[in-house]
Amino acid sequence: MSFADELIRWYHQNKRDLPWRHTTDPYLIWLSEIILQQTRVEQGLPYFNRFAARYPTVSRFAAATEDEILNLWQGLGYYSRGRNMLATARIVQQQYNGLFPSAYQELIKLKGIGEYTAAAIASFSANEAKAVVDGNVYRVLARYFGIDEAINSTTGKKTFQQLADELLNRDEPALHNQAIMEFGAMVCKPKKPACGICPVHLNCYAFKHNATTALPVKLNIVKIRKRYFNYLLIMDGDNILIHKRGLGDIWANMYELPLIETDGPAEPHEILYLQKNRPFTIGKDSVKSISPVYKHVLTHQHLYVRFIELDGVADTSSDDFFFTEVKKLKNLALPQIIFLFLTKFLN
Ligand code: SF4
Repeated sequence: MSFADELIRWYHQNKRDLPWRHTTDPYLIWLSEIILQQTRVEQGLPYFNRFAARYPTVSRFAAATEDEILNLWQGLGYYSRGRNMLATARIVQQQYNGLFPSAYQELIKLKGIGEYTAAAIASFSANEAKAVVDGNVYRVLARYFGIDEAINSTTGKKTFQQLADELLNRDEPALHNQAIMEFGAMVCKPKKPACGICPVHLNCYAFKHNATTALPVKLNIVKIRKRYFNYLLIMDGDNILIHKRGLGDIWANMYELPLIETDGPAEPHEILYLQKNRPFTIGKDSVKSISPVYKHVLTHQHLYVRFIELDGVADTSSDDFFFTEVKKLKNLALPQIIFLFLTKFLN
């Protein structure tokens, strides 16, 4: 039995029952694929269910506001995905009469849909013969065939795509793609692959050469940026001062507390000195409490976040700053770290 056939046989016996595997609706498959980018299935599943229930069609999604989408997205991270989805849904609504395309050539033109996602939607919804290559597929192919080209190099990407295309079962592309991805997620896992129960271990290069930790090879090109976020917590009775973020940075168009970013760790008096240059002023600069520093890890940034509670009422001179009732905070799209801190702090 061929490598690909073995994986399909394994898949029939071991696949997880996931809601997006019960549909061929390209809109719902797109929804699941975007939600699952950089996200574990267990984490993404409740979000998929919530989005699919609230927006069962792309037309309903397109009619939502950005605030509504970001609010529902809260806690999932990589918020640009939610914004891109809204832009894409609106394009589908306008240019495709609300019918989500299922052909690879159309899908690839849409915002936020790259080669992998287009291949996944086209094969799962229309059985188009397109081989998917995601992180799972890179790992399985690199280990089984012993390929040491970097998976994030231009030549490496071509090599893996070519091999995936050659292996693709053209009669059953959807099944084949699901099988290899599921196998990578459940057996040939990034750490501690389950080689002992693997149906293809006898012919696996990495297993035979004890090279499962060395493969796949990835070039280390990610530079981590450290940022220091000092949030000012200013209450006026049951109201709290909120700031709406702009575009061009993380958490675009989301809501936060007034932020003072410093180049490094800073003392509260230095931070409050910087506050004087902000479009809001605080009547009485007295620090009531200071939280510990929380580290928040994003893909290319590490945030060191601290909350400083101030006594005194702020006068704002900008529309981006406003007071809102504490009980209405749940309606705002807040980054998870702020949401969790406030939930604990205000209760
Ligand atoms: Fe992956 Fe191990 Fe199976 Fe090889 S034997 S394909 S490394 S799980």
